[in-house]
Amino acid sequence: MRVTVLAGGVGGARFVRGLRAALGDADDHEITVVVNTGDDLWLSGVRLQPDVDSILYALAGVNDTERGWGRAGESERVSAELREWGAGWPWFTLGDLDLGTHLARTGWLREGLTYTQVAERLASRWPIGVRLLPMTDAEVDTYVVVEDGSRLHFQEWWTRHRAALRALEFQNPGVAQAVPAPGVTDAIETADVVLVAPSNPVVSIGPILAVPGIRDALARARRVVGISPIIGGRVVRGMADACLSAIGVETSAAAVARHYGRRADGGLLDMWLVAEEDAGLAPDLAADGWDVRVTPLWMTDLERSAALARAATAE
Ligand code: GDP
Ligand code: CA
Repeated sequence: MRVTVLAGGVGGARFVRGLRAALGDADDHEITVVVNTGDDLWLSGVRLQPDVDSILYALAGVNDTERGWGRAGESERVSAELREWGAGWPWFTLGDLDLGTHLARTGWLREGLTYTQVAERLASRWPIGVRLLPMTDAEVDTYVVVEDGSRLHFQEWWTRHRAALRALEFQNPGVAQAVPAPGVTDAIETADVVLVAPSNPVVSIGPILAVPGIRDALARARRVVGISPIIGGRVVRGMADACLSAIGVETSAAAVARHYGRRADGGLLDMWLVAEEDAGLAPDLAADGWDVRVTPLWMTDLERSAALARAATAE
């Protein structure tokens, strides 16, 4: 079975780990993960790709499972020194091991490798069992326009302000000229199923869909299944509700489904998975023609994530 997943960082990583476990025993399977790169940024001279690294570290088993992000066994000596220099962002800590990744990546970029080639090199260190593709090789960082009209890099809004400044709009400058990274549209069009991970619909899935050509590829895909990142009207972890309200979407599994849209109506999805807590939303969606399935959506451990992936890949 060929499965292609559209994913952000931590939610995406949990889901992909489950998918890899679910398909693990099947002889013939191929998983491609198209990762959001809207979170990327230049900081202290290095290029960060938070969502790519979250997925890489989680699949390699070197992620910090307690903190929920970054490397296990991390130290922060370099960050402390940068702070003394007044370099970088004092509220954005870069772990030492993590900086090793950023330095390697930045060095390869300066040698002329593309983001796709860099991701392939980073991923070759561990047998991660999936193909990791950035959504595009272009730099299309996400910016947030806030109430006073100023524009901040997404990471500044998210990490420094904890998404507390009311967002009016998310922008990815340059995205209109970007093209999907090599292999992305092919992976979408030739997959048996494309899965939209339970990731942030606005700032993780949104930038992927904004790359010209990706929506068209999805329209040609065999089957597209989405998993709700909202359970019982809550975002589960993080502050995705601040992103949804900025684009006028309610924090509910039904509203996110309608935001993505049904493929039969020119939208994205053939099927939508909602949590048992949201079973009450299913009849309304079904009345509008949705193929909506109710299944446990909590990815609290690998077994639950794998069960969710099995539900998402079932016909
Ligand atoms: P980020 O890039 O690190 O913010 O991660 P993603 O965008 O991939 O995923 C973040 C989203 O995952 C959150 O906004 C939650 O809505 C969702 N999420 C996190 N944990 C779970 C879970 O256990 N189940 C489901 N269904 N969604 C989750
Ligand atoms: Ca992210």
